[in-house]
Amino acid sequence: MKTYSFPQGGISFDDPAAPSKDDCVTAFLPGISIIPLIQHTGSRADPVVSVGDHVSEGMLVGRGQGPLSANIHATVPGKVIRVVSWKMADGQTNDALVIRMEGAFERLGKREELFPWENLPPVEIQQLIADFGIVEMEGSGRPVSDMFYALRSDREPLTLVARCVFDDPWLAGDYVLCRDRLKAVVEGSMIAARAGGAKHIVFAVSHGEKDLGLELLAEAETWKTPVSMVLVSSRYPQRNQRELELVLRMYGKKESLELGTLMILGPATLAAIHDAVKLKKPILDRYVAVGGSAVRKAQVMKVRIGTRIGDVFAECGGFVDNPRRIATGSPFLGRTVVDLDEPVIKTSYAVFAILGGQTGVTVSRSCIRCGECRTVCPVGLDPEELYKQANAAADCPRAVECHACGCCEIVCPSHLPLSAVIAASAGRGD
Ligand code: SF4
Ligand code: SF4
Repeated sequence: MKTYSFPQGGISFDDPAAPSKDDCVTAFLPGISIIPLIQHTGSRADPVVSVGDHVSEGMLVGRGQGPLSANIHATVPGKVIRVVSWKMADGQTNDALVIRMEGAFERLGKREELFPWENLPPVEIQQLIADFGIVEMEGSGRPVSDMFYALRSDREPLTLVARCVFDDPWLAGDYVLCRDRLKAVVEGSMIAARAGGAKHIVFAVSHGEKDLGLELLAEAETWKTPVSMVLVSSRYPQRNQRELELVLRMYGKKESLELGTLMILGPATLAAIHDAVKLKKPILDRYVAVGGSAVRKAQVMKVRIGTRIGDVFAECGGFVDNPRRIATGSPFLGRTVVDLDEPVIKTSYAVFAILGGQTGVTVSRSCIRCGECRTVCPVGLDPEELYKQANAAADCPRAVECHACGCCEIVCPSHLPLSAVIAASAGRGD
């Protein structure tokens, strides 16, 4: 079977400080959970409960405010004891409900009721996905209902793409989920396809995970919607929208498939769609890769949303030394965490703490003109030149082409913050 790969740049990425994808432990339920009212790209939800109120597991506690906002739910039963605000590393202020766990769990440990969805009209499925606050769980966290809304005037055929691409060892949690909840991932893709009117589903699977791909395909073939599998490279950033679309267009051309518009969703999002529609359940927990050179025991954990990141590290044996950086996501792309009381949220596919010397915490020196950054840029940019222009606040029109994959920054022997500076420059509208 042919493996499709984006044509230029990229890196093979390994990180010994990332956890193994062979095991997963379930984290303790949080005695105190912190439920932020923004857990995704976009605007804050409005709280619908107040201090002193009792909440049940899965109850709506924040209502999304239109486009780019998503509903927020309590993940444990308990009492709202405080509302806290803090400034995140990007300068944005977030508010969160602090819930002290008490009372009975309505779902945990109980047999789940199953709700048939096959005969529901697409608009009702989309409404369930919106009601249960489903957002993309691996990327920026765009609300999935907004993705459907964006398709409303699209006349192209739609192909649903299940992105099982593991080009980064920090996606170990997604890999474990894909394996443990394979049926839910497949059924979630069928549900998403029906909601969006897709007539075909493609499972895009990393070359090295062909066996997992074949299992996904065998399960998917028990459903009526036509499916296929395409093997793609494991080179980072193969999972990015642009690089994945490139290879899927190559595949479509070779197979004479009219793919049309592509709706790309990762396995955690597909499982969440399954839970929202089939179980009428919001996102209560997620698989998280926990590790980094400062952490005593790296491991994949199934963690309740709202669990404090400090509690997650404590369950991994704590720190071997004071971390230089704590963040969520991959070490080179992560969002810095300013306080160990910040919680795991819907998009936290990884949390890490690193000592000086690991990727992302090194001192920058001068450019030595080695050209490595140009070699790895998948877009064909000259990151060194763009970085110079951005630093000089000069006109930098090509900066908007950068999709902030971070490849240039990872390979730069001078540890220059290339990607961050270029992305900031693009954001200023240069
Ligand atoms: S310039 Fe942008 S697109 Fe190119 S490698 Fe750097 S971050 Fe990636
Ligand atoms: S990789 Fe770093 S040191 Fe090498 S040319 Fe690019 S900016 Fe300069």
